[in-house]
Amino acid sequence: MIELPEIKTQRIAVKVKTKAEKIIRQHHPWVFESSITKQNADANAGDLVIIFDQKKNNFLALGLYDPYSPIRIKIIQFDKGATINEDWFSEKIRNAYNKRIPLLETDTNSYRLLNGENDNFPGLIADVYKNVLVIKLYSHIWFPYLKTILPLLLKKTGAEVMVMRMSRRLQSTGKNFNLTDGQVISGELDNEVVVFKEYGVNFSANVIHGHKTGYFLDHRENRRKVGLLSQNKKVLDVFSYAGGFSVHALANNAAEVTSIDISAQALEMAKQNAQLNSPSGTHYTLTADAFEALQSLIEKKKKFDLVVIDPPSFAKKEIEIDRALKSYARLAKLGIQLVDKGGILVLASCSSRVLKEEFFETSESAIKSLGFKFTVIEKTEHDVDHPITFPEGAYLKCGYYKVV
Ligand code: SAH
Repeated sequence: MIELPEIKTQRIAVKVKTKAEKIIRQHHPWVFESSITKQNADANAGDLVIIFDQKKNNFLALGLYDPYSPIRIKIIQFDKGATINEDWFSEKIRNAYNKRIPLLETDTNSYRLLNGENDNFPGLIADVYKNVLVIKLYSHIWFPYLKTILPLLLKKTGAEVMVMRMSRRLQSTGKNFNLTDGQVISGELDNEVVVFKEYGVNFSANVIHGHKTGYFLDHRENRRKVGLLSQNKKVLDVFSYAGGFSVHALANNAAEVTSIDISAQALEMAKQNAQLNSPSGTHYTLTADAFEALQSLIEKKKKFDLVVIDPPSFAKKEIEIDRALKSYARLAKLGIQLVDKGGILVLASCSSRVLKEEFFETSESAIKSLGFKFTVIEKTEHDVDHPITFPEGAYLKCGYYKVV
């Protein structure tokens, strides 16, 4: 392992507004800068912050200080004090691992071990792809603790290689203690494209240059479901990226799969991923804007048994919500016209600011507005390795509609 930075931390004490106290008592992990009313000392990234209640000065929670984010304190411990040391981190990692055991008992060797706030590690993601552990940092608060945490993660996962990824914000603010995005922290990475398994289906991800940590593990269960629905079927996978849904469909003997993405590079990966499973069906790829491509398929009167539409996030900020909902409505209308009678439309959203009720309601009324009738087969959220412990932690929703 490379030499990790040795960074001293201090403890400070703060008090927060009554409204924030209430939210903390409900175990919400975020304290905004504007909620802090008293702070006994200046603090650096990763310093320990004890939050005391205003009235009785009792311990409320313990968090880590983030001077670079409006979410100034990220809470890691509620209700009673704790010493944040190797034992504490070990216990949290063990708890997180135990939640993933049922998944690891399947023919799957790719999983999210730490899902940020939801596993007591705000702003830190740990994903495993076969023997490669990818750490993604979204906050500076973790730099002082990497020296303790990273060896524990290697040990628990049994990974041979560890890669560091950093959010764009982290890269742009600097102060990264000479650690860089895509750096190999431990072991040797022979190939940045790592081949792994998901319910017996082979897949590969670029852990250095791919989106997020290389792949979208959150959709695993939906990919499995789409695979199971695909036997002998004609499938359309829109916004396919590296072919998550396409590859599961082909590996489950889809007759043909068409993957659409605006990125030729993503489609090249999708083709290679499909080949890892020696499929019998045909794989077509179409490099195009999804909205235009769907319209043109409709004009050509094409029909599919299964259409999956899983676009990128349309709303990361509140002001983008309305436009996002309009895009979801458009996609639902385009998608439904391409589904054969008896076929299935799968609509997904990963926009964190769009609530699941709004997404489903918008998609369903758009379909109805064109006069199509459907039954709802199922509505799903995150897979088991993405536990959600606070409202903002939820972003993924997926509806399955059968055209009748
Ligand atoms: N469904 C994928 C994940 C989608 S990520 C999976 O299961 O793994 C979003 C993808 O949308 C990216 O690959 C991006 O290249 C693509 N994309 C973004 N805008 C697009 C557009 N207008 N038309 C087509 N593809 C687009």
